[in-house]
Amino acid sequence: MSTPSFSLGAAAWLHGRRARAGTVLLGAALLCAGAWAQPMAPTDMPTLAAAIEALEQLGNADPRQAAGELERLLPSTAAYSDDRLELLTVRGNLLATAQEPEAAETVAQGLDEWCRSRQANEACAAADLVRARTLSQRGSLSRADTLISAALARLPAHSSALVRLRFVATQAKIKDDAGKLEDAVRVGHEALKLADDIGVGWRQALARSSLAYSYYQAKQLDRALSLNAEALAIAERANDFTARGRAHNVQGILLDERGDREGERREMQAAIDDARRAGAKSDESLFLANLADFYLKSGQYKTALTLSEQALPLARELKDVNGETVALANIGLAHISLGNLQVGKRFVNESIAIDERRGALGTVSMSFAELGIYLEKAGHWAAAVQAYHRHRELNDEILQRDQQKAIVEMQERYDAERRTRDLSLLNRENALKSEQLRQRDLQQRLWWLLAAAFVLSLTVVVLLARRVRLSNRALASSNLQLLAQSERDPLTGLANRRHFQAAMKQLAADGTLTGSVFLIDIDHFKRINDVHGHAAGDTVLVEIARRLRETLRDADLIVRWGGEEFLVVVRALAPERVEALAQRMLAAMAGAPVRHEARAIAVTGSVGFATFPIAPALLQVSWERAINLVDTAMYLAKAHGRNRAYGVRLLHASDEVLLDEITRSLEQAWRDGQVALTLLQGPPPMENAA
Ligand code: GH3
Ligand code: MG
Ligand code: MG
Repeated sequence: MSTPSFSLGAAAWLHGRRARAGTVLLGAALLCAGAWAQPMAPTDMPTLAAAIEALEQLGNADPRQAAGELERLLPSTAAYSDDRLELLTVRGNLLATAQEPEAAETVAQGLDEWCRSRQANEACAAADLVRARTLSQRGSLSRADTLISAALARLPAHSSALVRLRFVATQAKIKDDAGKLEDAVRVGHEALKLADDIGVGWRQALARSSLAYSYYQAKQLDRALSLNAEALAIAERANDFTARGRAHNVQGILLDERGDREGERREMQAAIDDARRAGAKSDESLFLANLADFYLKSGQYKTALTLSEQALPLARELKDVNGETVALANIGLAHISLGNLQVGKRFVNESIAIDERRGALGTVSMSFAELGIYLEKAGHWAAAVQAYHRHRELNDEILQRDQQKAIVEMQERYDAERRTRDLSLLNRENALKSEQLRQRDLQQRLWWLLAAAFVLSLTVVVLLARRVRLSNRALASSNLQLLAQSERDPLTGLANRRHFQAAMKQLAADGTLTGSVFLIDIDHFKRINDVHGHAAGDTVLVEIARRLRETLRDADLIVRWGGEEFLVVVRALAPERVEALAQRMLAAMAGAPVRHEARAIAVTGSVGFATFPIAPALLQVSWERAINLVDTAMYLAKAHGRNRAYGVRLLHASDEVLLDEITRSLEQAWRDGQVALTLLQGPPPMENAA
């Protein structure tokens, strides 16, 4: 193909350390690995780090082989040791370079696990490094670029120059591949400085030739030439064929740019020779393709064909698809140029078919363009035009696809942003909702609290009210009781004078008395007390009171008027009924002796009575005057021998003054005929039992 390549695919990652032939180098590395597997005296023991570095250098030429050796060395490293981290990092990188993405991913996952369990940032960074290289090998350059930046950011500041170099060199290569030349040059300088700090020849040489290629692409040919001259000299001194071969390859590209055709051919051939010496098959395949390209351009088709035919099996052996399609295309183009149109077209088409299958449309388009050029040169105008058409169509398609991709990416970005926005909106909404719920909950609790407080206070109020009512009722009843007690005689249980006065006020608003009134006085009561004792006197009082009450109806008023005096007021009765009542009272008192302890006490009483208003004039009198009159009648009974009753039947008085006069001298008035009295005799007196 017409554009010479510094590197394609795997070749970019190859490094080498000792300047020996590949087989010799491999032997040395195996020696290291083997030495590790058997116990050795400490002084003889090559350091494990040195063995890993030796295999890293070997990996520049043969990454698959070196990765295998590193795997054998793994049990010699302690778990979570620096050596093991070093080994895994190098091995993962080599597997990625050797187009073994699955094996590389397994190593990356082991590093992830290490990272998680140990919180070891250097292991996380190493996992990212391995993945970045795998992505880069697959052509996912922007993802690789993002990942390697993240890996570098995670790399601890105290990491060694060697560890850092692996990351920085990878980043420089990714930037270069991605066409970010400014970045590639900047990062390439960082790698160069780190390599110089380490001071290992092959690393210094590789850092320089890589940077020189970036400068060449950035159209700074002089800087590129001087850097690559250094690379050549250092690789020479270090005797590293891989590094030297790559420097020669870059040199050939630079001389081509200068128009030095012979120099270009010489450098390309030297590159191939060195790659062969190093056993770097991937490099060899690439350099052969580059040289074949040179011969195609210079019209030496036979040589171009020979070289491409040498490159093809190498690429196939390495499963280097890129190298394979380049070789196939170059074989085809050489055949076309040599006049074998059909054979040539078949090879080119095979190359195009592979690229189409793997979706490398850019390469397909370029292949059609080249095909057009060589067909035109060979005089196949119609076929050339057809190839150009196809090239144009593909370019349009790529353009469209790129645009679509851009639109899709934009859409995806927009969708992602919207999702983020929706999510944050949703989150905010959720937060708002839960806040509202909380508020409602609080409010509900508050209401419940208020309700509970209300019910509680209501209960308290009701209880208090009930207590107040009850105590009021109790108070009222005790007041009533008090009142009743205050109007009742404690000994006999009869009403007392106070009650009588209250009753009189109620019955007669004008103070006059209507009804039959009796005043009863026990005879010689003082004597009973004296003879039988005061207690016997009390018993007599209680018993007489009981007998009088028995004699009367419930509605009749009976009052203990004084010590042994009782006042009875009944509704106004006809004279004969009043007399009968007085008679019954006399009988009640004297009819039977009163029992006290072992004694029977004979009791009699004297009674005065009258009915008001007083016949015949029916003079209305006050209750005081009425009682005064019956009291006088009762004394008349005492005076006439006791155990009897005197009733005022008629009293001829038209006013109260006259009444008072008559009362004062009742007996005289009786004789004068101003008063008619009824005399009732009590039962015959009994002998005192005592
Ligand atoms: P008369 O026949 O004239 O009525 O003579 P009397 O002894 O009944 O009359 P008097 O008024 O002289 O005596 C009344 C006595 O009654 C005086 C008093 O000691 C006694 N007395 C008054 N109240 C009570 C009381 O509640 N219990 C007792 N045991 N005696 C009382
Ligand atoms: Mg008396
Ligand atoms: Mg008496």
